[in-house]
Amino acid sequence: MRIDILSVMPELLRSPLEHSIMKRAQDKGLLEVHLHNLRDYGLGKNKQLDDYQFGGGAGMLMRLEPVVNCIEKLQAERTYDEIIYMTPDGQRLNQQICNRFSMKENIMILCGHYKGIDERIREHFITAEISIGDYVLSGGELPAAVLVDSIGRLLPGVLNDETSALFDSFQDNLLAPPIYTRPAEFRGWKVPDVLLSGNFPEIEKWRYEESLKRTQERRPDLLEGED
Ligand code: SAH
Repeated sequence: MRIDILSVMPELLRSPLEHSIMKRAQDKGLLEVHLHNLRDYGLGKNKQLDDYQFGGGAGMLMRLEPVVNCIEKLQAERTYDEIIYMTPDGQRLNQQICNRFSMKENIMILCGHYKGIDERIREHFITAEISIGDYVLSGGELPAAVLVDSIGRLLPGVLNDETSALFDSFQDNLLAPPIYTRPAEFRGWKVPDVLLSGNFPEIEKWRYEESLKRTQERRPDLLEGED
């Protein structure tokens, strides 16, 4: 899978993409991430990217020409399945959306900055608008890193069996059960007996029941099939 990310501050994206599982995905050739600095498409000798709002109002916004030029250059090279804009007024990201995106081949992600982007970019280029939650960040770079991580770890071959995404929270609309490692006892705090029993059908049953209990207590909305 190939992901192109358009940003006025691509440096903000580097660290999350260059370590741990995202690094492994790229080293294995399963994920290709290309960062594009919109400054390279800026206008005039100052490489201007932002401008005042028509109609007045506080704050600058991203002009459309640099963004359009970058998008169209990439579109001339390959077809994109999705062009995603990270925005607080988009659809709230959840595991189902990550699963869906993880099956695509080429994705472009546009990070906003300042007050956001000229509405005409959204109308004419964007195919999906995604929010990572009901709060406002200063730029779309951290949200884009969240999206890439959540998609990248789902690509076949990225995670090994031990870390398999199938058993994570939200797959099957359930939260993950409690987990334990050594020592089996610490300060008198014991690991549940069943996990030490070696009886795998019983362990599976216990995990399922704990998942269900945890979901009922913390996120009953998931069991009603809501987002
Ligand atoms: N004026 C906008 C917020 C702009 S914040 C509004 O009120 O909706 C600047 C940029 O940060 C946005 O363009 C977007 O790309 C990104 N951003 C901020 N919060 C976000 C969130 N919760 N999810 C996704 N992107 C977000």
